[in-house]
Amino acid sequence: MQEQAFFNEGERVGVLTTQPLDRCLDYRAPEGGCHLGAYVEVPLGPRRVLGVIWGPGAGDFDSAKLRPVNRVLDVAPMRDEMRQFLTKSADYTLTPLPAMLRLATRAPGLSDPVSMRKVLRPTGQMPDRMTDARERVLSAVEEYGGLAFTAKELADLAGVTTSVVKGLVKQGALRDEEAPRDLPYPRLDPDLPGKTLTEDQAAAANTLGEGVAGGRYGTTLLKGVTGSGKTEVYLEAVAATLRAGRQALVLLPEIALTAEFLKRVEQRFGATPAEWHSGATMTERRRVWRMVGQGKAQLVIGARSALFLPYQNLGLIIVDEEHDTSYKQDEGVCYNARDMAVLRAAMCSAQVVLASATPSLETWVNAEAGKYKRLDLAARFGSAVLPEMRAIDMRAEKLPASTWISPTLKQAMTARIERGEQSLLFLNRRGFAPVTICRACGGHVTCDHCDSRMVEHRFMKRLMCHQCGETKPVPDACPTCQVEGKMAPVGPGIERLGEETAALFPEARIAVLSSDLFASARALKQRIEEIAAGEADIILGTQLVAKGHNFPLLTLVGVIDADLGLQGSDLRAAERTFQLMRQVAGRAGRADKPGEALMQTFQPEHPVIRAILSGDEEAFWRAEAAERQAAGVPPYGRMAGIVLSGPELPAVMDLGMALARNDGPLRQIGAQVFGPAPAPIARIRGRHRVRLLIKASKGTPLQDAIARWIKPARLKGDLRLSVDIDPQNFF
Ligand code: ADP
Ligand code: ZN
Repeated sequence: MQEQAFFNEGERVGVLTTQPLDRCLDYRAPEGGCHLGAYVEVPLGPRRVLGVIWGPGAGDFDSAKLRPVNRVLDVAPMRDEMRQFLTKSADYTLTPLPAMLRLATRAPGLSDPVSMRKVLRPTGQMPDRMTDARERVLSAVEEYGGLAFTAKELADLAGVTTSVVKGLVKQGALRDEEAPRDLPYPRLDPDLPGKTLTEDQAAAANTLGEGVAGGRYGTTLLKGVTGSGKTEVYLEAVAATLRAGRQALVLLPEIALTAEFLKRVEQRFGATPAEWHSGATMTERRRVWRMVGQGKAQLVIGARSALFLPYQNLGLIIVDEEHDTSYKQDEGVCYNARDMAVLRAAMCSAQVVLASATPSLETWVNAEAGKYKRLDLAARFGSAVLPEMRAIDMRAEKLPASTWISPTLKQAMTARIERGEQSLLFLNRRGFAPVTICRACGGHVTCDHCDSRMVEHRFMKRLMCHQCGETKPVPDACPTCQVEGKMAPVGPGIERLGEETAALFPEARIAVLSSDLFASARALKQRIEEIAAGEADIILGTQLVAKGHNFPLLTLVGVIDADLGLQGSDLRAAERTFQLMRQVAGRAGRADKPGEALMQTFQPEHPVIRAILSGDEEAFWRAEAAERQAAGVPPYGRMAGIVLSGPELPAVMDLGMALARNDGPLRQIGAQVFGPAPAPIARIRGRHRVRLLIKASKGTPLQDAIARWIKPARLKGDLRLSVDIDPQNFF
């Protein structure tokens, strides 16, 4: 453990609290003193709040009035590198430091005293009579050397009854002891035999392993089509990290998808790693936080906020599916976990691996420029080949009104059913139909709180707002013209596609995978496992299915509307469509059966569709990069969004206009301001949202200019301002 500076009792210390204040507060070090970085409880007015000893006190507050720190929490002090990381990420994202600290202390019960429990420890004394069962218990104790278990846990581990364990206590071979309730994680064994890697994979794994052994910072793009073994390869980098005695973190985009993943990790290392996500229980989160902080969790599998855990010795961060947009948090503290992972790693001399079949343009450009290393896995593992991809030109297909499965696609599906293989239809639209329109006046139903159109969800017989989740019944009469019985669904949603599929294939077993159709992540996981085991002929899915599931029997992917997503004026639309289509297509033919991907499109000559079909990815990225460069947008220029919100639109607009008029600090660095304009989501939960967009050249002090620009802004009443550096949506 690193040597931290120490403050003696009574010395003046500066404490950063999680309260929204703009600076550290001074206190006196408590009885017994405290380390720099110690987590403490301090008095603030009548309350006691959580804080961290951030440095010596500033000294401008009357010493006589200085209050002492209440107590030092029983957790390892925050390391210097973590304080640096929080400071730098606060500076980068223009987030107040206390909000950053809140991200880093999001474990319940941190300030509770550690609760104790009775555990058993070996005494070194042998029992008078050794039996098989006793032997098993003692070897379990040895195997988990250093870990403490209760009698019940030990019995379970050894596969014996608790009376065997109690017998050993009576014999003096084990004795009772008090230990903290939070259980350490079982030891992961990096030296268990992994899979035998192909030449390609082994070369990539070696390079990553060397990077880890070097003990310095470095970022590598690990690129390879779905199924090429990226996971196998980076698990070897994890193994190298564990061998080096350092901690590893694997970030995944969607936590619902880890059942299969955790099983793989367990198979590789012989025990389950720590898991960090919002769905975990309070006790589990607390345990992870504490154990990571004590260096007793070697590997964490987590969602983006796992970056803010208090690692003691972090040596490797994997960002799997690095292009995934869910890594970007754009409410509250706006940060991109991928970029923060790189920053975090630089602070603690760790390696980063960005894994993807379809990297983000930012990452691709960084690799081209030599800032990141790049490793390519060329082929899919084993005999699996990339599916053959073809467009179905919808202009030439004859379909009955309000149906979406073309005769060509239907034929391909029929062939799969006859062969006992699976088909997947992909449509990235939840619900029954994207709009419900009045056939009398053309009016539609909008959400009362947001400005979005409500989407019919037939399974729950209601309309739902995809922005805020608000639901209401489908009205009989049109809310605009009051005419009754004329409200009709228009366009395809995944549920409606389900009805069409059932009508076309009455005998088939159909599974609809859409996040809102499952009561819990567990239910979804279960369904996915059933499908993988062959309990469905046709799978219908939203973008949920684009991500890393293995369906060995799947040989056909039909993309219902490949044009969806090409229409947006969003600059990233092409990139997103490209990524999504490639990912979906990658679902087919993973095992030993070759796959086929058919894309229904009305514009087969569109450059994005052509790039997807030709498979010439490098050409696609080069063209995209050139376009971004010409437009001066990321990654070639810099952008930031300022979102203003409030209950009354005029007040929000006024603030926006005032900011736009007084743009001196921005002009000084040659930046431009656009707006105010309605934010991409113009109203959320009754709050109007207006956005200003800032565009600047690379290498200009953008954050500094923005900070000076917004500082004088008057946030009267219920007005809020939030900064989003590198926003996902440009326009
Ligand atoms: P990716 O992460 O690129 O999608 P995976 O690592 O998940 O690819 O590999 C796809 C499938 O192939 C998995 O089931 C994996 O276990 C298997 N696989 C990949 N490489 C090997 C190997 N060298 N030996 C055995 N199985 C492998
Ligand atoms: Zn709404």
